[in-house]
Amino acid sequence: HAKSAGRNNYQFFAADMNQIATERLDIERKLRHAISRNELALVYQPQFRADSSRPTGVEALLRWHHPTDGMISPDRFIPVAEETGMIVEIGDWVMLTACREMKHWIDNGLKPLRVAVNVSARQLRRRDFCETVAGALAESGLPAELLELEITESSVMENPQEAIHILERIGRMGISLAIDDFGTGYSSLAYLKLFPIDHLKIDRSFVRDIEHDLNDRAIAFGTIALAHSLGLNVIAEGVETADQLELLRANGCDEVQGYLFSKPLTSGAAFAFLHAAHPAE
Ligand code: C2E
Ligand code: MG
Ligand code: MG
Ligand code: MG
Repeated sequence: HAKSAGRNNYQFFAADMNQIATERLDIERKLRHAISRNELALVYQPQFRADSSRPTGVEALLRWHHPTDGMISPDRFIPVAEETGMIVEIGDWVMLTACREMKHWIDNGLKPLRVAVNVSARQLRRRDFCETVAGALAESGLPAELLELEITESSVMENPQEAIHILERIGRMGISLAIDDFGTGYSSLAYLKLFPIDHLKIDRSFVRDIEHDLNDRAIAFGTIALAHSLGLNVIAEGVETADQLELLRANGCDEVQGYLFSKPLTSGAAFAFLHAAHPAE
């Protein structure tokens, strides 16, 4: 009896694995055409000062509208893009598009704001990474000071020596750096202080229950204190309620981003929102 149950479990497991592999192959095949078929777009989520709610910038987030499958979430296709290496071409497109759109908004009367772009480990490791970023700035005409790159702890910790070298070059170009999803990956604080970082982003998982979970609260407040003592600004992500905002603000969190203020917006909607909140003088 036990033996046949075990075999059934194995069969279920094998069937699941097979389905996952098939789905990945399907995503991979479709993703190969996503850029040339114009299926990718960026949405922009505004970021704000925690104390005054003035906009400070936007984070560019990738969206994929497949003609028959509909909207495919970045959590499903970014890992596939990373494993296959397609993230390099997609990442180049994201970088150039984000720089162009912010430049376009400024040309149309928006007071200059920062635009943050997510960068994968795989992109960071490329020997031509700095040239690619410089190329996007040159081609778009966006000042380097308005670009921020978001990288994760894990992606810099893969090879800290190499990462320091690349990030120092990025910093010297005038581009700012944020550590994304802080607290969810493995990182060494000793290394962290060696990186030319401007922002730490507190992961949404610590913000979600900050009103009730004392451990999450300790991690969030501890991160703010740590970041400030290292001279870094803190952005909390995933702020959904006024109580979460108040706790973060009262404890010195510098900037906030989340559904309480705005969901990620299409380019046109983001321009209208920011222009109304933050007109040029
Ligand atoms: P992330 O960089 O940590 O981005 C924040 C995610 O949280 C976004 O999900 C955003 O829509 C969501 N979010 C923001 N505020 C709230 C909130 O108040 N409540 C809740 N529940 N969620 C909120 P999204 O757009 O699905 O992106 C997921 C992840 O995919 C990103 O996490 C990032 O790691 C990755 N990603 C997105 N665009 C790119 C890209 O262009 N390049 C790379 N390499 N990764 C990207
Ligand atoms: Mg991010
Ligand atoms: Mg994040
Ligand atoms: Mg996150």
